Amino acid sequence: MSNPNLFSKQYLLTAGPTPLPPRVLSIASEPILYHRAPAFVDIYERVLANLPRVFQTSNQVLVFGSSGSGGMESAAANLIVPGDNVIVASCGKFGQRWAQLAEAFGANLHHLEFEWGTPVDPAAIGNKLDEIDGPVKAVFTTFSETSTGVLNDVKAINEIVTAAGSILVVDAVSGLGAANLPQDEWGIDVVVAGSQKALMCPPGLGFASVSPKALEIAAQNPGRRFYFDWEKTAKGQAKGNSPFTPAVSLFMALDVALNMILEEEGLENVFARHAVLAKAARAGIKAIGLERFGPDNPDANVVTAAWLPEEIEGAKVPGRMRDVYGVTIAGGQDHLKGKIARIAHCGYFGGFDIITALTALEMALRDLGFDVTPGSGAGAAEQVFAEHGSVPQPA
Ligand SMILES: *Cc1c(COP(=O)(O)O)cnc(C)c1O
Repeated sequence: MSNPNLFSKQYLLTAGPTPLPPRVLSIASEPILYHRAPAFVDIYERVLANLPRVFQTSNQVLVFGSSGSGGMESAAANLIVPGDNVIVASCGKFGQRWAQLAEAFGANLHHLEFEWGTPVDPAAIGNKLDEIDGPVKAVFTTFSETSTGVLNDVKAINEIVTAAGSILVVDAVSGLGAANLPQDEWGIDVVVAGSQKALMCPPGLGFASVSPKALEIAAQNPGRRFYFDWEKTAKGQAKGNSPFTPAVSLFMALDVALNMILEEEGLENVFARHAVLAKAARAGIKAIGLERFGPDNPDANVVTAAWLPEEIEGAKVPGRMRDVYGVTIAGGQDHLKGKIARIAHCGYFGGFDIITALTALEMALRDLGFDVTPGSGAGAAEQVFAEHGSVPQPA
């Protein structure tokens, strides 16, 4: 394997970490601010005021120095008392993480597993809620299942869960800021996310948008957590006073990224851009002669997955794209390793990123012996952009 120089031209086109706007990158190299000094407190308060706009909520969004999984762990730590009934509805790698967390926190776990590549069936959650004796503390599921590209109907899931008197916790680590998730309008109690996907920041911040009801449930169940305690963080944030040292540089980066999303491009336009990019990725995959993995869902705008041809060594495709062509995309995880390729459109992605990913995919497939017409995928994407009237670009 070649080992390209760290500074050689590379195209990072994965669903996380995602490519970053130069402005976001450069602000993170400014001097470190003292977190109690006004210069930082201004930034801190602005970020905390803007974050709920991305979650489309009036909740306080709690911020932790962690990867996205830290936001998830905060939900498990604050909601689950050992022995509680909880339901996890999963359809991929990240949904399984909820099950692992629920077990780590001692829940009486009821795990509804759906086949990877299919969405969670809301009705099955309803049946499970009926079937379980006694209260179900919470239901955990995934919005955009990044391991497969599937987008779950969390609106329908939430209606069933709240009607049964439980609360829903949604992992939107990759979906938030890429696909529409109006938390308050849909009435979802907890949404967690991370900084390094559609929010166009480096990895290192985990978020939990927690409703007053969920905060109350947590407050009634103290213990088994310290750093991730929701109440402690909520109280500190409300006073502009983080209970622990915040990730100063990441807050500065997020400040710039949120301004780009909310003011320069606008959330609606951000969603619309992701939709066109996803459409182009789907068209490109089809034109290359690959079969799409997962259901046809025009709202699944975060990641597009394709089956790799059986007659070639599929596991070599992403490595070849990266090491020979400098284009990094993700392959499949676990039992899908070597079986699928995932084209991301999540965050700071424009039309030419999709064309680049499709072109490198065509080249790697040809190298490995699959018959592809050069430019077929890229041409189909170009056609989608022509019909759209422009090549979508982020702000
Ligand atoms: C990336 C991702 C996570 C976990 O993120 P980490 O930041 O790696 O902890 C969780 N859920 C989904 C859906 C993701 O895409």
